[in-house]
Amino acid sequence: MTDEVRSAQNPPDAQDPDLARDVAARLRDIPDFPEPGVLFKDFTPLLLDVPLRDRVVRDVVGRHDGAVDAVLGIEARGFILGAVIAQELEVGFIPVRKQGKLPAATHAVSYALEYGTATVEIHTDAVQPGQRVLVVDDVLATGGTAAAAVELVRRCGGDVVAVEVVLELGFLQGRSRLDGTAVHALLTT
Ligand code: AMP
Repeated sequence: MTDEVRSAQNPPDAQDPDLARDVAARLRDIPDFPEPGVLFKDFTPLLLDVPLRDRVVRDVVGRHDGAVDAVLGIEARGFILGAVIAQELEVGFIPVRKQGKLPAATHAVSYALEYGTATVEIHTDAVQPGQRVLVVDDVLATGGTAAAAVELVRRCGGDVVAVEVVLELGFLQGRSRLDGTAVHALLTT
């Protein structure tokens, strides 16, 4: 068992107590990607494991069934699980994309990444005022991306129900940038 698996945390009342351990076993560490010094957490092996992927989706859906009006996915990996979760919750899916990719009128927010800076955008009409939006991504690192997504929803007049990620890099303290927003990670390292 790796240190990462040993450090997997799950709430004691979790529906699927082995989920964090099993997810940890399907995340792949890629050192120095996309640049030197970054340990990239690759979740594509998890996507290939159909039963585990299904458990991940069920876990998220179980927390939010009937309580959200739309799921927002952050480009690009947030699109993958986000779209499946939206399908299961029977709600719409909203893409948040990097600058210049969305074709209609947008709101934009700039932020600092763990590596570099970025601007993300949302279509101004993607969220209706008062809608409850669930934000989904693969990794919460410094929290800048998720905080930008939360701000984009607010600019549209929507309410963020929670931010759901597969993995939280706890040492980067991304939660501190999401004060007032519920954050749930399937796994925290
Ligand atoms: P941050 O804004 O720092 O929380 O970065 C989160 C975004 O960058 C997410 O969309 C992740 O997909 C990606 N990301 C940042 N750091 C990593 C990492 N070490 N491994 C994998 N993805 C990462």
